Amino acid sequence: MKTISLAFAVSMTLFSGLSFANSDKPFAIAIHGGAGTIKQSSFTPEQEKAYRAKLKEAVDAGYVVLEKGGSSLKAVTTAINVLENSPYFNAGIGAVYTHNEEHEMDASIMDGNTMNAGAVAGVKHIKNPIDLARLVMDESVHVMLYGQGAEEFALTQGVPLVANETFNTQKRYEGLQRAKAKMAEAKSSADYQAAHQQLDTEYKVGTVGAVALDKQGNISAGTSTGGMTNKRYGRIGDAPVIGAGTYAENGVCAVSATGHGEYFIRYQVAGDICAKVKYQQKSIIQAADEVINQRLITAGGTGGVIAIDHRGNIATPFNTEGMYRATRKSGEPAQVMIWRDK
Ligand code: ASP
Repeated sequence: MKTISLAFAVSMTLFSGLSFANSDKPFAIAIHGGAGTIKQSSFTPEQEKAYRAKLKEAVDAGYVVLEKGGSSLKAVTTAINVLENSPYFNAGIGAVYTHNEEHEMDASIMDGNTMNAGAVAGVKHIKNPIDLARLVMDESVHVMLYGQGAEEFALTQGVPLVANETFNTQKRYEGLQRAKAKMAEAKSSADYQAAHQQLDTEYKVGTVGAVALDKQGNISAGTSTGGMTNKRYGRIGDAPVIGAGTYAENGVCAVSATGHGEYFIRYQVAGDICAKVKYQQKSIIQAADEVINQRLITAGGTGGVIAIDHRGNIATPFNTEGMYRATRKSGEPAQVMIWRDK
């Protein structure tokens, strides 16, 4: 009897020692809901409250996955699903309209542990594009699928197709009409870009993304978007491009971007930030700041990123007036922010 209780006591001590060690491992998550000239004055207190509540819901949903020992990949898709299902953000429901008054969505995910990645571009009938990106990564031999082919693949995976109208919102429709009116006046590509910059940002931003570090020390990143208002000709942005809108590499960093995609592709924003960490031993804060607040500003590219390293350090720089974002580190409450200081 005594032996049994001794064995029991020893195993309990070991068990609690193990669980202590596990619960001691840092984990963290950061999310964004798009960067842009988000004017404080254009929000009613009720709207601001509602946006903040949705951002908190998303970051908390990802946090719970990590707290329970789930993977950073699962935390990323869980958080992004909350934002895709909300009409406030330009991803899933609430995606911006193309010139042809449809929605074409892009998404990607990367696993820093295996360096696997999956992406979809220009999908029109997928309720949660980030989940399809994950299936491309896990269940196909490819990295990126686009349009109809991506949707055929979805059907093979049991993902139902939904009507394109599912993603309609009045706010985004008005945004398209304004964009069309402004851009109709543009005579050159420079005019066109200038007109695009002047559009009310509330009508064109809102890409969503997440980066996370799990208790196993693995980091991941994911991004999902409707792209840019009034886009034409099958335009695809940076969100599904690995190294531009999304990147993750264990021991280095994980990044999800939002902003003017054409710049993020040409400047390889997510990959460049991680290269600075990897080859120049820069901190995630410094690396992300150099790319967003120096390189991109010089180039004229607007936007921001969320980035995380293997210790759970988080950077959220942006060169616009605001970026919807939230972070949560192990044992700490969520922090939700929209503008520079609040
Ligand atoms: N990066 C996205 C794109 O260019 C848009 C955004 O983040 O607002 O498609």
